[in-house]
Amino acid sequence: MLANYVVQAKEQMIQEMKRYYASNLVEKLPQGALFVAKLSGCIITAYRSGKVLFQGKDAEKEAERWNGSLRSQQTNEEMLTTVSAIGSDEVGTGDYFGPVVVVAAYVAKEQIATMKRLGVKDSKQLTDEMITRLAPALMDHLHYASVILTNPEYNRWQQRGMPQTKIKALLHNEAIGKLMNTLSQRPDAIIIDQFIERNLYFRYLEGEKNVIREHVHCIPKAETVHVAVAAASIIARYLFLQELNYLGETVGIVLPKGAGEQVDKAAAYLIQTHGEAILHSCAKFHFANTEKAQRIANR
Ligand code: MG
Repeated sequence: MLANYVVQAKEQMIQEMKRYYASNLVEKLPQGALFVAKLSGCIITAYRSGKVLFQGKDAEKEAERWNGSLRSQQTNEEMLTTVSAIGSDEVGTGDYFGPVVVVAAYVAKEQIATMKRLGVKDSKQLTDEMITRLAPALMDHLHYASVILTNPEYNRWQQRGMPQTKIKALLHNEAIGKLMNTLSQRPDAIIIDQFIERNLYFRYLEGEKNVIREHVHCIPKAETVHVAVAAASIIARYLFLQELNYLGETVGIVLPKGAGEQVDKAAAYLIQTHGEAILHSCAKFHFANTEKAQRIANR
């Protein structure tokens, strides 16, 4: 009898499987599949949903090869949720106006329950109002460190050809290092809300002084793994909103968030009233919004 085995795997694990079966991959993929590998006794199909299907007489044996790793991957993340940890997250990389803010926050294991009671969760699920109420309390309760990359600096780095992922890596490492210097105890884990894989993160930091490596985890959707990441994201969002308000006051209008049409219009208005150079001081100049704004302003 031929049995089918289905396992649920995270993206990272699926990539690992794909590498492992590299010489057995077939080209034609069914709908929604990430890869199909054909072995003599088993066909493996990995789907975008995270499901991996093992079919054929060796299905059980082949699935078992991964079950151990799947279990340990799960246990690792489960274990992380209850330790004393630094969480690190960034805000502003997708917003045309305003700086990039990275915050690292430390939550000791004794504080985890309190954080949850306060309603700390992913900042994307919270309104600006809730963030504005919650963040000051967190800033009182927690050790944290922030790094703010202003627009002029961001634009200089960008014009030198630095990719945004490298900018993020540098800022995360800086915020974490800054926070570590103020802590009397070593955290059990340092959890970065993943924007690139761990290996790549450290490759971007090659040649930098003071690279924090020990206990560093890069985890996708890390705010669901440890509340320290959620706390960091809330504080980062709050500081970003403050900076955006302040910038708005200096240029005389309310600067919209994001990178949509409202942003194009606001930028066009600024070009008309102040000249294009002002965008270097309050916007991420290389975004497509700059050109759209120029077109609107020249109408
Ligand atoms: Mg993030």
